[in-house]
Amino acid sequence: MNQGLSPTAEPISKLIQELNRLPGIGPKSAQRLTYHLLRAPEEQLKLLVEAILAVKQQVILCSACFNVTDIDPCSICRSEQRDQSKICIVEQPQDILALEHTRIYNGLYHVLHGAISPTEGVGADNIRISELLERLKHSQIDEVILATNTNLEGEQTAMYLNQLISPLGIKITRLARGLPFGTELEYADDVTLTRAIEGRQEF
Ligand SMILES: [Zn+2]
Repeated sequence: MNQGLSPTAEPISKLIQELNRLPGIGPKSAQRLTYHLLRAPEEQLKLLVEAILAVKQQVILCSACFNVTDIDPCSICRSEQRDQSKICIVEQPQDILALEHTRIYNGLYHVLHGAISPTEGVGADNIRISELLERLKHSQIDEVILATNTNLEGEQTAMYLNQLISPLGIKITRLARGLPFGTELEYADDVTLTRAIEGRQEF
């Protein structure tokens, strides 16, 4: 074999390398995707590239709930069909997708963008907690649903929020039944998630 000559063309190995950096895409999948893209019509690739760039250029955070959106406030916050008296607190925007998919919850949301994790150096100030408190103080919320993940960080965050919110006299519930410890909301199935919302218990 000639030294310095890779059997794979440089643009191909570069795309494989970039795709491999995405979550859930191992070297084999990256390779398969790359060769799939190589065969796809150029027009389709242009649409893909545009969609990827638009995600970064057009998506902002809702100034009320911090969900990802292209209008501010987001469609959930501005909807008159939603129950304005309930707010569900989640760690990540994709958790809203999972909960909305169950169609069982019709209240508002608040996205923390993380969970408290002393081991990873994430404190209460690093996630959207102060914004949540401000929001609660100036709204008609009568129930807060703590829907952080059921892993250690999620539980710690729920306990911390419970301490902060309790003095405000708002009912606090926690997703519980059916969600095994260690569950990330995003990956919970609809049935489990629906049971967890329906069976939420006072914290
Ligand atoms: Zn919003």
